[in-house]
Amino acid sequence: MSIQIYNTLSRKKEEFVPLREGEVKMYVCGPTVYDLIHIGNARPMIVFDTVRRYLEYKGYRVNYVSNFTDVDDKIIKRANEEGVDAQVISQRYIEECKKDMAAMNVKPATTHPLATQEIGGMLEMIRTLIEKGYAYRAQDGTVYYRTRSFREYGKLSHKNLDELRGGNRSLLVSGQDQKEDPLDFVLWKPKKEGEPFWESEWCQGRPGWHIECSVMSKRYLGDEIDIHAGGEDLVFPHHENEIAQSEAANGKPFAKYWMHNAFLNIENRKMSKSEGNFFWVRSIGEKYDLQVLRFFMLSAHYRSPINFSAQLMEAAKNGYERIVTSVENLNYLLGEAPQRPLDSNEKELLARAGEFVSRFEAAMDDDFNTADALAVIFELVKFVNTNASDASGRAFLQGLKEKVLLLTDICGLVVEKAPEILDGEIEALIAERQAARKARDFARADAIREELLQKGILLEDTREGVKWKRA
Ligand code: AMP
Ligand code: ZN
Repeated sequence: MSIQIYNTLSRKKEEFVPLREGEVKMYVCGPTVYDLIHIGNARPMIVFDTVRRYLEYKGYRVNYVSNFTDVDDKIIKRANEEGVDAQVISQRYIEECKKDMAAMNVKPATTHPLATQEIGGMLEMIRTLIEKGYAYRAQDGTVYYRTRSFREYGKLSHKNLDELRGGNRSLLVSGQDQKEDPLDFVLWKPKKEGEPFWESEWCQGRPGWHIECSVMSKRYLGDEIDIHAGGEDLVFPHHENEIAQSEAANGKPFAKYWMHNAFLNIENRKMSKSEGNFFWVRSIGEKYDLQVLRFFMLSAHYRSPINFSAQLMEAAKNGYERIVTSVENLNYLLGEAPQRPLDSNEKELLARAGEFVSRFEAAMDDDFNTADALAVIFELVKFVNTNASDASGRAFLQGLKEKVLLLTDICGLVVEKAPEILDGEIEALIAERQAARKARDFARADAIREELLQKGILLEDTREGVKWKRA
């Protein structure tokens, strides 16, 4: 079956057909780096990383671009508070963000562009927009996008321009008297005291927020891309404005599929730092393995709001550990299992295990329904726990383990921990065991063998001495 994606643009599920066969060009709006990332930011990271992993599993080469917004009011404010350059702040939090991503097993993007490194491309696109009549310079040097000149404005958010103009007071911000229309938005703005700035023909200044994504997407993926994604708060105005900029400048449709994750709430309330219901990814990581957070995020469909609570995290922890324990058990059995070909019963059971893979794919093909996909993994785990025993052969156990790991890998869930023991430590324990045996302390010798087995290390007593290997 083909993959179906819910497209915000059409408000329908559509069959996924990439622009170029076998390739996917994907752009995901990344965080503004003025602080650590919070668990709301983690949702698009985990969700779209899983989309990417599934597309790769399906055989697509995915070019995945995700930016860091490294120039912005909040970064500048923080820099001024600390008395350092804005770059010091953004670099610090890019590094911290990358650490959190790694702990959540979010793959690094193919490219992580930075806004401040792409100013030249932004100036070029703004110039093109002015030349084509889509943008104008106001008296103080601000450059605005002339929203009404883009006839399809509102097509993504399904908003009507007249309603927007009449109803949205927040658009009537200061300086709007310079605008031809309250809906016009900033492409370039004059510098203020204490702010980083770049030279341009309009004024010394810095870019508006929306232009960076249009420019980076064009530079790293081309004028037309397959998937553009982010949280649902970005639909309007950010993505609407990106479409207006890119399509007006390039004269081509921008992204074919627009995907948006719903929000994460805390205890059924909007997450808010000032109200105290707020968590950094880092602080969750102090209490839980961040794989549990990943599991939690995937337990809901990405288009449904997800509610974070201590109770639901405990449930996620139990769910995740059930898979980990099942794999541990397989490894334990593998340590002792006889090497023999599959018998007919094992063959049949493995074929049945394969059906879970098909069902997992069916769930993911349906607009990446990770909630259903995790439910299938649980059924597979139950099947494994029922059918793997100390009477099973090695090939059979290995076959079961491969199926579990195939599906958990697509979800980006690490369920098999690398043994946390170094070669030197293993050698030392083996020497201690030999000494215990010599002293006829067999209880101690057995305890050491067991301890090593728990860490995935198998010992074999041979005529040449003790040999060991990792399970
Ligand atoms: P920001 O740094 O605010 O631009 O956010 C980076 C990404 O996180 C964007 O895709 C936002 O839509 C997303 N995001 C922010 N808060 C939440 C939340 N509470 N739930 C889900 N996504 C969020
Ligand atoms: Zn963006």
